[in-house]
Amino acid sequence: MHSHSTTSPSLRTRTAGLDAEQFRALGHSLVNDIADFLATLPERPVTPHTPHAEILGLLDALPTPHRGIDAETLLRDTTTMLFDHSLFNGHPRFMGYITAGPTPIGILGDFLASAVNSNVGGSVLSPLATEIERQAVRWVAELMGYPATCGGLFTSGGNVANFTALLAARRAKAGWDVRVKGVAGGDRMMTMYASKETHTWMQKGADLFGFGTDAVRWIETDGDQRMNVDALAAAIEADRAAGHLPFIVIATAGTVSTGVVDPLPQIAALCRAHDLWFHVDGAYGAPAAALPEASPDLLGIREADSIAFDPHKWLYAPLEAGCVLVRNPQHLLDAFSYRPVYYHFVDDEQVNFYEYGIQNSRGFRALKVWLALRQIGFEGYIQSIREDIALAYYLHELAEAHPELQAFTHHLSITTFRYVPSGVDPAAPDARERLNTLNETLLAQLEAGGKAFVSNAVIDGTFLLRACVVNFNTTAADIEALVEIVVGLGRAL
Ligand SMILES: *Cc1c(COP(=O)(O)O)cnc(C)c1O
Repeated sequence: MHSHSTTSPSLRTRTAGLDAEQFRALGHSLVNDIADFLATLPERPVTPHTPHAEILGLLDALPTPHRGIDAETLLRDTTTMLFDHSLFNGHPRFMGYITAGPTPIGILGDFLASAVNSNVGGSVLSPLATEIERQAVRWVAELMGYPATCGGLFTSGGNVANFTALLAARRAKAGWDVRVKGVAGGDRMMTMYASKETHTWMQKGADLFGFGTDAVRWIETDGDQRMNVDALAAAIEADRAAGHLPFIVIATAGTVSTGVVDPLPQIAALCRAHDLWFHVDGAYGAPAAALPEASPDLLGIREADSIAFDPHKWLYAPLEAGCVLVRNPQHLLDAFSYRPVYYHFVDDEQVNFYEYGIQNSRGFRALKVWLALRQIGFEGYIQSIREDIALAYYLHELAEAHPELQAFTHHLSITTFRYVPSGVDPAAPDARERLNTLNETLLAQLEAGGKAFVSNAVIDGTFLLRACVVNFNTTAADIEALVEIVVGLGRAL
């Protein structure tokens, strides 16, 4: 071989790499810092509440990286900066929104997954990782009592899991070739049905995939914020009569606000009767279907054509991990598969995940879920989810028993309540406004204080504090501490 160049490629400048000793030293030191951080988390503030301007200042102080710097200093400084200025959703007294603390094995799993760096889009690039993802999909299905013969894959989160199911339903239920002609290419308007409590992925999905948000029929809820099935049936019939094409009902297993589960078995029956796709958004609540004591309403999830759920919620996976399960895997292939000539590895023998969803190149996010399922076991998960629910119920009981607290709802592991100063009658005509303002201020102070973190819900115009326990670190003492903190703040106001 003749070289045209005077520069030998063996003189490769080492820019991105680290040698083995350096990597080992950096890695050990990082793991030590993380272990200390995890062990001391309960004593740290949930959030230091660093002012936004200070956060911007930290970053503005850094020069544009035209020239690289030493990895050791860089990692140490970054670790310190993140530990000093972040909000920690793994903190035992973090009960805001629906964000779980990460499993330690999941943290390590992400590290390992990055090292192997499998591209789980095609099985040729990830022969083992693809099968691990398939096994993880079967296991999570089994955990919830859903058929293990289903198709499915891991996604970035609940939004994309729900989108994936919506696109599978669109392809399965349009009477024309919707992938070629588009949703406007048929003679009828495709309509979908969701309760008013549905998460905003619904609007995004209707918009992004060409239906338009007008195609969503927002179904009334009953006094418990559950989808009203009679109203649902009436809406479907009205659309049929108007010549539209109803194609999917979206039910929720664990609403964002209060954790309510729609009457899934009745909705399933209605979908069967009308030949509609039955989708369950179980982003939060689906794993609770694993509990032997799960309600019949929640167990209706097993009748769904598709389920979206979030391992980064109630399976405690580190962000990001969503998951979609589709009863008949062929529906995913029908909706997503293209087989270009440059992917000559594609055949019907092997699963290539790029054919089953939205992404092409895909990371190995299944690994952290697979590891946690094996380490914790179904039994461990069932126990931990059960305890989360019991702790939320305990909060409800404490609030109910406390003369200055008023308990509202408890569903799954979400409890809503508010502070009512002694001497104030919450039923008095002018009380609502006053109590709303009081509890809004209390919440702002609670979040800023860093001792505990909850978020809010608004039910029929009443502003409430809302605690959601999806955290294997939270204990009864943390619940008692929360009550004390809320009452203390309330009295000071
Ligand atoms: C969290 C949640 C979503 C969105 O999931 P992301 O992981 O944030 O994308 C959708 N629906 C419900 C019911 C949720 O709780």
